[in-house]
Order: sequence, then C-alpha cells, then structure tokens
Amino acid sequence: MTENTKDGDRSADESTGTVYLVGSGPGDPDLLTVKAKRLLETADVVLHDKLPGPDIIGMIPETNREDVGKRAGGEWTPQEYTNRRLVELATAGKTVVRLKGGDPFVFGRGGEEMEHLAENGVPFEVVPGITAAIAGPGVAGIPVTHRDHVSSVSFVTGHEDPTKDESAIDWGALAATGGTLVVLMGVGKLPLYTDALLEAGMAPETPVALVERATWPDMRVATGTLDSIVGVRDEAGIEPPAITVIGEVAATRDRVLEFLRNGEQQ
Ligand code: SAH
Repeated sequence: MTENTKDGDRSADESTGTVYLVGSGPGDPDLLTVKAKRLLETADVVLHDKLPGPDIIGMIPETNREDVGKRAGGEWTPQEYTNRRLVELATAGKTVVRLKGGDPFVFGRGGEEMEHLAENGVPFEVVPGITAAIAGPGVAGIPVTHRDHVSSVSFVTGHEDPTKDESAIDWGALAATGGTLVVLMGVGKLPLYTDALLEAGMAPETPVALVERATWPDMRVATGTLDSIVGVRDEAGIEPPAITVIGEVAATRDRVLEFLRNGEQQ
C-alpha cells in the first residue's frame, strides 16, 4: 500500500487493472497453459474472437465474454475499437484477458495491442500460448524441422496476394531457403503462392499438407504435392482455419500414420 492514501482511495495508477495478453493454443482446452486456464476463469472480462474455438470460449463465464471478432454481416471489429476497449476496461479497474488463438505474437496483433497498452500506461502481462503454426503440423504427424530433411523453418502469412507488386513476401527467396514453409491464413490464396513457388523453381513433387482446425474435435488433414494441393483442397473442401506445410517434412506423416493417435477421426 502507498502512504497518504485514505481507505479505498488508491492512486489512479494502482486502481488500473492489468491486461493479460493470453494465447489459447490451437483449440483443444487440454493444450491451454495452466495460467491461461486460471485467468479465463477468474478475469473480470475476456475479449476474444472466434479463433480459440468453441470449447475454450465455452470455458469463459458467459457474463464475462466480449466478442471482438467478426460481427454479424462479416465485418471485423476494428482494431481501434479493441485497443480502446482494453484501455477503458483496465482504467475502470478490471482484470482483463485479451484471448488470442495460438500464441498472441504469431500473426495475432498482440504486438500492436501491447504497444497501445504501454502508450496508455496500462500494466500488462504476456501469457504465451502454443502456436498452431507448430502444433498444427505436429498433431498431424509433421515435425516442422527434421534433422534428416531440413534445418530451417519459415512462418509466413498467406493473406497477401503474391501477384501484387507491393507484396512483402519474396516467395522465391523462401523457396531458396530449402527449409520448411508454414503458411498461416493461407487457404484462400493457396493457388497464388503455390504458383509463385513453382515459378521460383521449387519441385512440383514437394510434399504439402493442409491441417484444418488442428486439435479441434473435427480436425482434418489433407495431403498432396505442390502441383496437386489446390485440387486436394477443393475436393476436400478445406476451409480456414488451416495451416499449410510445404516441404519434405510433410511426407513424414505418411510414414507414421498407422500409429498416430492424434485426431483419430480425421
Ligand atoms: N496466433 C495464432 C495465429 C493467428 S493467424 C497462432 O499462433 O496459432 C490465424 C491463422 O492461424 C489461421 O488462418 C490458420 O492458418 C492458423 N490457425 C490458428 N488456429 C488453427 C488451428 N486450430 N488449426 C489450423 N490452423 C490454425
């Protein structure tokens, strides 16, 4: 307690609540960290979108939930609103969880939100989560590195259009690494970046896997090669959220599948 404060009359700083930037992991509640679970159950308010999945969102007391994901009509809640709301709630003295799918700092805008909190004098804590970028392939029997095949892995957003001049992603340079490529948000633009990789000289027979809703009860995995995976996606009707894994490691799955007990319904 600080000196010179009357009962219940704490300084403004002390009365500001903490914001926890929490990663939910890929969706299976058993893959939440112990800390994330405790915070979900005890926070005053949890701001979330759909990505953590129904099972984890279901663990939050209903009256404490605020959905800041897609709104009715398909529009995303503007990031400015989420930023403003976090500061508003913390300033009102609430303990706030900002729940993100996977890890908050892997394509999760956690960085922006953390900076906004710091700029506004709001104390925060980062609670890392298991990222779907590694766990998604993992539960499908695909190690993102493997001593026999690759010694590097790149995590890439597939959200960009590689045919646009201003694309920040150099697919040719990524192909040249010879390492595993893990593409997030890459279902819709799959034809564009597989073409870009083929054009850059990556072998058409390079193994590729799509892991849809990894660790969710209805997880599915579809496999093919760089030149066949678009057809595989269309035939299976793979939809987001899904991870694309490109590289020799994607073929590991076939060698272990008989004994793989993750997602047996796939
Ligand atoms: N911060 C998250 C990623 C957010 S970007 C993380 O660390 O996992 C959103 C993308 O993540 C989705 O488009 C998809 O590519 C991937 N993703 C997240 N959860 C997933 C899951 N359970 N299964 C497959 N892909 C998932």
